[in-house]
Amino acid sequence: MNINFTTATFKDFENIPGMDMMERADIYYDFLEYMKKNGHRYRLQNNTGCSSVMKVGTENVTKEFISFVTSDYLGFTQHPKVKEAAIEGVRKFGTGSAATPLIGGYYSYHNDLESKIASFFGRSADEAVTFTTGYTANSATLQILLQKEDIAIIDMAVHASVYEGCLLTNRKTFPHNNLEALEQILKLSKNQFRTKLVVIDGVYSQDGDIAPIEEIYKLVQKYGAYLMIDDVHGVGILGKTGRGTIEDTGLLDKVDIITGTFSKTFGNLGGYVIANKKLTNFIRFQSRQQIFSATITPGTAAGTIKAIDLIDEEPHWRLKLWENINYFKKGLNDLKLDTGTTCSAVVPVKIGDLHVTMDCGKMLLERGIYTNPIMYPAVSRKDARIRMSVTAAHEKEHLDQTLNAFEDINKKLHIAKK
Ligand code: PMP
Repeated sequence: MNINFTTATFKDFENIPGMDMMERADIYYDFLEYMKKNGHRYRLQNNTGCSSVMKVGTENVTKEFISFVTSDYLGFTQHPKVKEAAIEGVRKFGTGSAATPLIGGYYSYHNDLESKIASFFGRSADEAVTFTTGYTANSATLQILLQKEDIAIIDMAVHASVYEGCLLTNRKTFPHNNLEALEQILKLSKNQFRTKLVVIDGVYSQDGDIAPIEEIYKLVQKYGAYLMIDDVHGVGILGKTGRGTIEDTGLLDKVDIITGTFSKTFGNLGGYVIANKKLTNFIRFQSRQQIFSATITPGTAAGTIKAIDLIDEEPHWRLKLWENINYFKKGLNDLKLDTGTTCSAVVPVKIGDLHVTMDCGKMLLERGIYTNPIMYPAVSRKDARIRMSVTAAHEKEHLDQTLNAFEDINKKLHIAKK
């Protein structure tokens, strides 16, 4: 079995017919060596923490870059009050919880965090349950709620954690944001499956565009289904008061399940599920990840609680973020670069071709700009792009320097729209 290393993606190594696990690991190791030798990004190590300017290194070389690779949208990983709260959490309760929630790992900080995030969404204290990551919040919730008589009806652009959560149930995907296709599936599923759960993102992680939530909610109602929205890239950024994509639709108290993360806007770690108290209790006591996996550390919980407060206490971070998003997007569009349909802090420059995108990523790095070239399987094969996350920590000079780099690269790679 020959794998062409110049065109291979990690998907090609998941399963190779006739090769056992060691043989697959062997050939994958050769692929990594090939990538290294050819100057592709292999493993960049962050030596400074999240910031708009990061010291990033490959082995012995460390250089300073303007960074667009973290989802620390409001800059809260470095906020003195968030750091202080996390340190206080460690001082009071130590570094780890050292147990799963059901056998002693549920501390007062976890309880306070669940009440805090529930009330952030206007819900009562028992309408939230937290997990160790956003990934687990999605996958665990779907795994326990849906069984083989049920169906998950998912937008094809949802996060990998949703796909993983549906492995043991029936799953049907609909083309991204396509309401007719969704309605068709709902119609066909109505009498065929027990629970019908539509799963969408609020903000989609690769295009930064948002879901037509009101229309989807209406369809869900019409066909007796339920709705789950993962809003990890919307919360803290969108909505009149930063409650996310759902806030301005007026459906915050109507969507059946909202999931999210503490690792992006809230600058910490952990995931959450917001739902009615019967569902949250079911998830809390039934999901395997709650029963068999440890809780987030007390310091992380304490830091997150402070970060949630800061959304209301210091809304100027959100305003600064939006100033940056609008300025940067306009600058890219003035260069005729294609930022697609983004309405959020995720700003792609769509290129299409995989190799041109890789070259563009490399040339940006050479000019001191750290971005993520994204390609299949994260997006479809002909839809490669440079993906950037704008944050409130970026200064105008960072954005200008990046725009200048794109202008220069465009002269060589011709990535602008014709
Ligand atoms: N959902 C979406 C849409 C995401 O982009 C991510 C993070 N990449 C997650 C869920 C998982 O969140 P976490 O990193 O906290 O596990």
